[in-house]
Amino acid sequence: MRGSPGSRGYEDLPEAIPSTSGRERSGDSLYRPPEPGGPDARRCSTGIGADRTRLLDMLWDLQDTWRYVPEPVLADLAPKLGTTLLDLRETASFYHFFHDRYAGRHTIYLSTSVLAQQCDYDAVLATLERETGTLIGGVDPSGAFGLFETPCIGLSDQEPAMLVDSIPFTRLNSAKVTSIIAGLKAGHPAVELADPEIHDSRTVEYVDSLVESNLRLPGVVFFRPDPYPESFVERLLTRPPEEIVEILAESELRGRGGAGFSTGVKWRMVASAPGPERYVICNADEGEPGTFKDRVLLTRSPRQVLLGMIAAAYAVGARHGILYLRGEYSYLRDYLEQTFEEFRARGLLGTGIGGRAGFDFDLRVQRGAGAYVCGEESALLESCEGKRGTPRVKPPFPAQSGFLGLPTCIDNVETFAAAARVLEEGSRWFRAVGTEDSAGTRLLSVAGDVSWPGVYEIEWGTTLGEVLEHVGAPDAHAVQIGGPSGVLVAAAEARGRRIAFEDLPCNGALTIFDPTRDLVDITRQHLDFFVAESCGICVPCRAGNVELRDFVARLQAGRASRADFARALACADTVRRASRCGLGATSPKPLLSTVEAFPAAFEAKLVDERGPLLASYVEDEAVVPADVYRSVREGRR
Ligand code: SF4
Repeated sequence: MRGSPGSRGYEDLPEAIPSTSGRERSGDSLYRPPEPGGPDARRCSTGIGADRTRLLDMLWDLQDTWRYVPEPVLADLAPKLGTTLLDLRETASFYHFFHDRYAGRHTIYLSTSVLAQQCDYDAVLATLERETGTLIGGVDPSGAFGLFETPCIGLSDQEPAMLVDSIPFTRLNSAKVTSIIAGLKAGHPAVELADPEIHDSRTVEYVDSLVESNLRLPGVVFFRPDPYPESFVERLLTRPPEEIVEILAESELRGRGGAGFSTGVKWRMVASAPGPERYVICNADEGEPGTFKDRVLLTRSPRQVLLGMIAAAYAVGARHGILYLRGEYSYLRDYLEQTFEEFRARGLLGTGIGGRAGFDFDLRVQRGAGAYVCGEESALLESCEGKRGTPRVKPPFPAQSGFLGLPTCIDNVETFAAAARVLEEGSRWFRAVGTEDSAGTRLLSVAGDVSWPGVYEIEWGTTLGEVLEHVGAPDAHAVQIGGPSGVLVAAAEARGRRIAFEDLPCNGALTIFDPTRDLVDITRQHLDFFVAESCGICVPCRAGNVELRDFVARLQAGRASRADFARALACADTVRRASRCGLGATSPKPLLSTVEAFPAAFEAKLVDERGPLLASYVEDEAVVPADVYRSVREGRR
């Protein structure tokens, strides 16, 4: 589970592990975090203003300053925000990147994604533990390094990868890790190690020095040369807002976040919903394991995304916007804010945009903090309001009651970029590409057992076989389409199927596994992911996913019977039907779709019941050891 500090602390370290360099030990005592309660509490409550909706920024401020979120500072902050310490503590605890205990002067998150584990993961982890002097989940005795795990960080095309103080490091191996940790011990900041040429963090050169884009195949919709923003806005303003909405509706552009709802219809709903204000929010919380195309779109085409947001603001009558950037992509923040600045300087953000009196729109970046469920639109809205990212009950939908209860147009990065292109070329042009039910093109994040991982723009309707050929996957055995919340198909049987809403709808991830991969283990890892990421508010998702994961673990251990299998499938059906939000509704898919595509992989591991005892019964585990029983009875546990 990511960001859970202290599960294996430094007190557990065997003495043989060299715990720190001389540098950290050179003071009179071991490094200790500063005592909380100082000036930072005042800065947090006054710098941003006593604005609850900025709570995540305040928590980031505390985390970055103190390397954890100190409770006394929260106690100071609570009355200024008109809330309680309990509320703030509960909110902070929801997000993986906020720690309630010191997380090291350098906080390291190693990606545990399925693809990372298929690369050099074990060697990288062992080296990290040896060089930092702490086991995973702990902080080394000097306080220099906190080492934690985290699920996919949006770098599946260049795993193994990790974040050090929010700076990504990719294509790791033992030698590279040794060198990075040595550099940190020598006093170099992580950013200098990742970008030795020290580029300006507001430039694309900086972003490129940290992470490869791996843009393999641009198409007709995305990654075009930037439209000249002034002429785009000038053209936009020649049409009334209602016409913009109708162009989008006629184009049949469908949202790219997963549900595939008509973008034009959504914009129309927001425009017509009653409310004193409206908001436009870009969902850049790209958290589905295996997906990274929004990362590349924000790197290569931030202006196209921004123009789509400006068009939405004009169409629905919004004056404020937010780009919710997943915490793992924090390294993009300065670059994106520089794009906003450039637009302000050109009169394309702010008041009187494009010289049109009354057309006012501006936006800010909201940095997420490591919670997959915040990719769900209503959870994202809660997070934007400075709360736990708990999905709301729908209806009402965000178009009617979104950010702060106001009508909100929330779309993902790819949708806004596509909308800008539709407005450039027209609805008929857009509709002519793709299929009858899936207009335009689709970006795919391709990774796994392929020759050329990266981002591909394909026309909707392209067959899976054509894609596999293009990306260099001659040995494809299984293909995960749309990440763990999508489906896993057998490559041999699905080659003729089309990537399209009407056949294989894909939310942007295409992960390929060759015949050497253990599909049952991949299923367990995906279920582990959902167990860790469930927000926990409803029982089917919170408890059901644990049941499913434990079933697969028992299957792997040779302790699951046919009756267990039937119970697991029934449980999966309950989780799918009874969960509140999309996370729960899709979380059993790793099990259900893998069983459907590869039933033999599961059947082969089932065991027969022997006698009256369940196959899952293991006597040693069932009997409580005497010392545990004694300590419980004496209140020591
Ligand atoms: Fe939370 Fe899961 Fe329920 Fe969604 S389905 S609201 S993630 S517990």
